[in-house]
Amino acid sequence: MSVAVKFDNVSRRFDTEVAVDGIDLEIQEGEFFAMLGPSGSGKTTCLRLISGIDRPTSGHIEIFGVRSENIPPNRRPINTVFQDYALFPHLKVLDNVAYGLLVRGVGKPERHREAEYLLEMVKLQGFGQRMPAQLSGGQRQRVALARALINKPRVLLLDEPLGALDLKLREQMQEELKTLQQSLGITFVFVTHDQGEALSMSDRIAIINEGKVVQVGSPQEIYQSPRTRFVAHFVGSSNVLSPELSSRCNGIEYWTSLRPEVVVLGDPGQGRIDGKVKSIRYLGASNYVSVELGEQTIGALVNANEIAAPVGSTVSLNWTDDAQHLMDEE
Ligand code: ATP
Repeated sequence: MSVAVKFDNVSRRFDTEVAVDGIDLEIQEGEFFAMLGPSGSGKTTCLRLISGIDRPTSGHIEIFGVRSENIPPNRRPINTVFQDYALFPHLKVLDNVAYGLLVRGVGKPERHREAEYLLEMVKLQGFGQRMPAQLSGGQRQRVALARALINKPRVLLLDEPLGALDLKLREQMQEELKTLQQSLGITFVFVTHDQGEALSMSDRIAIINEGKVVQVGSPQEIYQSPRTRFVAHFVGSSNVLSPELSSRCNGIEYWTSLRPEVVVLGDPGQGRIDGKVKSIRYLGASNYVSVELGEQTIGALVNANEIAAPVGSTVSLNWTDDAQHLMDEE
């Protein structure tokens, strides 16, 4: 497998603001790669640097092994899908999709044939004659996808493409996007601030914070072995044990992460440590039980069928050694 996009110590500064701060990254060809981070962490700037709309202040980007400064944006084998779709409101759906071919001087019959084919691929056959205003949000998003794919990019950049959709449609589109990516075999670079979305769709995820890549790994690695407290908090709702609490629970004085689903509640004195049930949150299939341990609380995800200890009662907390993960930074 070759490297589709490589960041070599890339920074982008705006006056005093450092949007991207010395990023090294390799995105493999054919990968579904997510960039996950909070608002303002530099994700969109990374995409803009890959597409060529913007340039690094220092460092280099390579696209399929070629230094990007040698490839003008319109010659890069890359296209972008934006959150707001950016469809042309005055053009029919078919002409929106075919636009990239029009720009390249492709004749009308071939343009329309290709556009029809792509509409079929995104499950919108028969919608070509409609105007964008006559479509739902999910349908507009599919048109934007078809339009971005018509020039056969080798890399598709997706900037929060599902952000404007409601939850149900979002989940449906997540599946469809993943299937589409697998059948096309092209590289997707997907920007999101939604942890669940990144975990469920990606082959690998880069966690971005304050312009830096904090951790890169498979969804399992990121979820189970967060490298820093930031990752542990940001991806899922991990418990983070201070070195002091960790030392009381497991004898190791180190920052430790612990997923709520691995914590088992029992009778007082039966586990590693005792605490008082502070609150119980009903989540449907499970309950999230917060247990107070002096300064800190630890959350446990308990099957809703289990009889939970009432708020105010004392319980023990237990977990296996392999369920706790030591973090190599604070
Ligand atoms: P969001 O999820 O909100 O879209 P993001 O992670 O994509 O955020 P960026 O849009 O890349 O973040 O912005 C990173 C930082 O760079 C922000 O602090 C932003 O204010 C700053 N920034 C981005 N573009 C510019 C610009 N043209 N001029 C000045 N500052 C900018």
